[in-house]
Amino acid sequence: MLNDADRIYQNLYGQQDWQLSGARARGDWNATVEILARGRDAIIEEVKASGMRGRGGAGFPTGMKWSFMPKQSDGRPSYLVVNADESEPGTCKDRDIIRHEPHKLIEGCLIAGFAMGAHTAFIYIRGEYYNEAARLQAAIEEAYAAGLLGKNAAGSDWDFDLVLHRGAGAYICGEESALLESLEGKKGMPRMKPPFPAAMGLYGCPTTVNNVESIAGIPTVLRRGAAWFAALGRPKNTGTKIFCISGHVNRPCNVEEELGIPLKDLIEKHAGGVRGGWDNLQAVIPGGASMPILNKEMCETQLMDFDSLAAVRSGLGSGAIIVMDKSADVVKAIWRLSKFFKHESCGQCTPCREGTGWMMRMMDRIVQGKASMADIALMEQVTTQVAGHTICAFGDAAAWPIQGLMRAFRPLVEQRATDYKPPQPLAQAAE
Ligand code: NAD
Ligand code: SF4
Repeated sequence: MLNDADRIYQNLYGQQDWQLSGARARGDWNATVEILARGRDAIIEEVKASGMRGRGGAGFPTGMKWSFMPKQSDGRPSYLVVNADESEPGTCKDRDIIRHEPHKLIEGCLIAGFAMGAHTAFIYIRGEYYNEAARLQAAIEEAYAAGLLGKNAAGSDWDFDLVLHRGAGAYICGEESALLESLEGKKGMPRMKPPFPAAMGLYGCPTTVNNVESIAGIPTVLRRGAAWFAALGRPKNTGTKIFCISGHVNRPCNVEEELGIPLKDLIEKHAGGVRGGWDNLQAVIPGGASMPILNKEMCETQLMDFDSLAAVRSGLGSGAIIVMDKSADVVKAIWRLSKFFKHESCGQCTPCREGTGWMMRMMDRIVQGKASMADIALMEQVTTQVAGHTICAFGDAAAWPIQGLMRAFRPLVEQRATDYKPPQPLAQAAE
């Protein structure tokens, strides 16, 4: 288990003061000016050396992403945009960072913005996080009042403004290019990539979009050093991560742990174990709604990091672990997710717009015991026509849970189809 001293988040559970005085007592904003004095390149190199991968879900290397930003301005301003649209079902880590450690995020914005040559950063927060937005705004105002933001931010000679923007509750606005569209005041629809935001992002300007947890972790990485972060976790999966454990556990929680921790340890040691004991476990969705479900056998030895989960054709995603005991109807659970994805598709591209409807309707029939084996085969075929054939990763996210269900629970799904009795023609039924 992670030592308390190695935790980035000392106030994840909100037991201490979230305000500037409390944050300072925990070491935030300590000698920030000296970190900035190292210079842009040195900061980016340090983040690269830490091996940090994006904490939003995709796990793209953070330092590498920053290095895509132009070194010299071509007349366009550069922007940092923080994705606080945390909408992946089961995910509630950024929410706790925002309400209990807002100054880590604000200080991280200044450091990351400076490293990328940005004088302005936007934090895009999901509309439903009303109280969190109020708390974050209060913390931003404290930082302005203390001279940590604004002109000559934190005495660094760097002018830096931070703007909080509230979304309106669409899941797709968490996709970075849809988020940028929404921030520009347009309908939140994903853009084709490339160009990636570093080349053409907000208002057509160089932009980096990072998750809350990535940015909030940056000041600590730079204070303790890349070597400290890189020594935690596993090769290519370094550092700590906040896991959100929910569902049929005795003590649902958010917990910061090293990447690569066994799934079983997370559930047993941090979440009080599966309701009714480990033997009562049926399934786990390991990385938020879009990541393929694991059956109990797969959970026994599973390590929780990007590469270990990719190796079993699932994913760490946002680190949201949804536990289901034997009382759960896993087929119905995945049906519910397919309904969610159908509802949240922006409808811009045909495979996703049509495919999510097809997948939901087929899952509906399976759940109701009205699907045949041919229907199941058709549904699987539809998932392959959606995944990898859409403008944004939403198409994959909608198809993967069903593909995962078929890999981990095929006999259960097929049993529902074998029990299926096709409706008889009226004349025959009357005989
Ligand atoms: P992605 O792999 O397309 O991109 C990840 C990041 O890397 C982006 O910022 C992208 O611009 C950058 N990138 C990727 N390839 C690049 C390249 N060649 N050049 C420059 N930059 C490059 O994934 P994504 O669509 O941003 O995110 C998908 C993930 O989001 C899923 O894995 C899911 O887990 C996660 N997700 C999280 C939430 C949440 O609430 N935290 C919600 C929905 C989805
Ligand atoms: Fe919209 Fe879906 Fe296409 Fe993404 S994959 S752009 S959500 S229709």
